[in-house]
Amino acid sequence: MKVRVSFIVVFLFSTISILAQLPYRTNSYVNEPNSEPREHPIDVQRMTLKVKFEPEKGLVKGIVTHVFKPLRKTVDSIFFDAIKMKISEATVNGKPARYSVTDIGITVYPQQMKWGSIDSVSFVYEASPRSGLYFIGWNDTTNRCRKQIWSQGQGIDSRAWVPMYDEMNDKYITETIVTFDKNYHVLSNGTKLNEQSNSDGTKTWHYRMTHPHAPYLLTLVIGKYAVETRKSSSGIVNNLYYYPEYKNRVEPTYLYSTESMDFLESFIGIPYPWELYSQIMVQDFTSGAMENTTATTFGDFSFVDPRGFKDRSYIGTNVHELTHQWFGDFITARVQKHVWLQESFATFYPKYFFKKYTGTITPESKKNFGEDAYEWNLRGEHNSAINASEKDRLPIVHPSSGSARIYPKGSAVIDMMMYVFGEEEIRKVIKHYLEHHNYANVETNDLYLAFQDTLGITPDWFFDQWLYHGGEPHYKVEYDDIRNATGRATVVHVDQIHTMDELTGPFKMPIEFDIYYKDGTKDSKTEWISSIRHNVLIPNSSNKEIAFVLFDPGSRVLKKATFKKTFDELKYQVINAPHMIDRYDALIALKDMNNDGKELLLQQVFEKEQFYAIKNEIIVQMHELGTPNALNLIANALKDKSEDVRKAALNGLKTIPLELKSSVEQLLTDESYAIITIALEKLCDQFPSSADSYLEKTSNEAGLYEQISIKSLEIKAGKGDQKALDKLIDYTSNAFEFWTRRNAMNSLKRINYLTESLILHLLDAAWNPNSRLSSSAIEVLQYFYQQSQYKQLILQAKKSNNDSKPWQKDAWAKIIR
Ligand SMILES: [Zn+2]
Repeated sequence: MKVRVSFIVVFLFSTISILAQLPYRTNSYVNEPNSEPREHPIDVQRMTLKVKFEPEKGLVKGIVTHVFKPLRKTVDSIFFDAIKMKISEATVNGKPARYSVTDIGITVYPQQMKWGSIDSVSFVYEASPRSGLYFIGWNDTTNRCRKQIWSQGQGIDSRAWVPMYDEMNDKYITETIVTFDKNYHVLSNGTKLNEQSNSDGTKTWHYRMTHPHAPYLLTLVIGKYAVETRKSSSGIVNNLYYYPEYKNRVEPTYLYSTESMDFLESFIGIPYPWELYSQIMVQDFTSGAMENTTATTFGDFSFVDPRGFKDRSYIGTNVHELTHQWFGDFITARVQKHVWLQESFATFYPKYFFKKYTGTITPESKKNFGEDAYEWNLRGEHNSAINASEKDRLPIVHPSSGSARIYPKGSAVIDMMMYVFGEEEIRKVIKHYLEHHNYANVETNDLYLAFQDTLGITPDWFFDQWLYHGGEPHYKVEYDDIRNATGRATVVHVDQIHTMDELTGPFKMPIEFDIYYKDGTKDSKTEWISSIRHNVLIPNSSNKEIAFVLFDPGSRVLKKATFKKTFDELKYQVINAPHMIDRYDALIALKDMNNDGKELLLQQVFEKEQFYAIKNEIIVQMHELGTPNALNLIANALKDKSEDVRKAALNGLKTIPLELKSSVEQLLTDESYAIITIALEKLCDQFPSSADSYLEKTSNEAGLYEQISIKSLEIKAGKGDQKALDKLIDYTSNAFEFWTRRNAMNSLKRINYLTESLILHLLDAAWNPNSRLSSSAIEVLQYFYQQSQYKQLILQAKKSNNDSKPWQKDAWAKIIR
């Protein structure tokens, strides 16, 4: 039975009593359009793209050829996705063909094609894409901006610059031949076959894949770069691109690049599936990074120097995108509904790498590695999943499941597969599943079948509750310390108290119970919990006093748990629980408790703990206490060796107590750019008479993407410094990348200063196809438009500026409301 969306509400209000009447759970799920892969009459084998550009006009001029096999007995029309393109010629098997064009594609009408033949279609076309391919810096009249062209195809944007069949369920070999100014680098998918100089000052680059991949993974990057080449242990060439003027950023940015490739080859059990791997950064990237086959693109905001690394590390993203070369590129979901098979695995493996990696770890990156970090990352995933369920309880396998399910929840589910079925067992399943679908499309059931084929088990209940149904278990836990004729025992009562209906049923999971005694010993028991109410009996034959009880130690099961504990139990737990996450949970439970012993306990734990998340939570609680001892602890935290701890201590200061003033002043020379920026703001705000000396102290610091400079300018501009105001306005112009522009426009918003030239810069940003820039600019313009003193200025700008394009109209409609 399939349940339509409109019925969800009914099920949400149904109760446990209804469910209790059901002898079994149904396999119902919420059905939605776009669940199934798109139908297509041909199977594309190869796409050859010859392309050149007029970058100032944002113009693409191309010739594309598709070689394909008909999938139907007869084929007499073929549709290719193509957004608003000019087609000047279409040929079928080399001969002119009849065709028709709309805003979304081209239909070609060939003479009848038949099963078993190999045919081809070519188009000569022009495109002016707003998405899919981005032209950066070509309209900066001051000539200060980097000039780049780069693509971003996911989900279905490749069709905006190339006429093609653009869905995940047809994979083909691509070949890209690009002619451009010889002073630039050109990178595309696969091996570079040729780089040839032409007589007109251009070059032609020729790239080709050797295995098929999905259309959204087509990549092109044009810009000015240098390249450092490394090799994995297995000999795969890693090309690490960088901006030539920033050689010092290569080391921190690309830390563990080849090490993680070695790790993935070994832990996935399948060699890296392509002939080489490149990574390249681009300006104004529309997302964090993109796993284009053989050539990952990432935003240059992750291209950091050794100090910037302390605020933003690329390692996790690096391993995420590299994992996609197997999960996503080598095997590809047939349709969005199964995309967790890509994103959840790409989220899981970086976490797993950080836990399992046994090579050399640099001191600066130590916090990312080890068991504590693993537990912390897993907890973040659990929280995301549980938060998402507040809105709806769609399953992971669903076309609208949303990013919280596709990324973190699915990753937590893979962790639970290892917890339930065994780590080595799951690695065996995954290896088998990849091998059996090499370079092909997959759906969730293919992974399920691999359990049967490799382990002989049918984990239907696991797939059903965690993947095909939504929601998470909420357990209520209590225990009794009982003495009767047969002796002493601990009875743990577990109730499943979450809403149960067609979307979410009672969960079946093995749960570990640990009883810790005051003499330092413990009893453990693992029991399958599947019913709504369950009692677990753990004998206490030696008649020991219980210190605390853990339900699911290490927190492997995705869940909510309500388990009330006394101060003394929590005190034992926060000091003695072996897993960081259990000590952290005790700390969280202590938060709302008033107890005379709490302050001392927090101090002790702060001294003892190494992991930053625990220390940060203590800092938060100490800020609330605000006692002399708390100030003492915060003073120490401001000097802590961890930048995360220093940051937490600084951020928690709503005002700077005089006792801490000099400690905060010390942070003006911190290693972390972010800490300097925050310290500068707080100090100048609270001690304006010393502002000049603070600004003097940081005057040689710019920070990544001018963050410190912009904060300094904001402080000076706030005091009426005209030069500072002009410089801030300059920073909002299209001569700079979007991070800097956003920073500067928000500074001017806080100062509440608007001029005609600022409006022009903001409009340029508001019309930018990168929504991370345009949304900020629109918000700032809205803010100014609400004020009568600026309203007319903005309306005048509207009159004198071209606003005929749809995106310009859209932006204006949002600004003027
Ligand atoms: Zn991803």
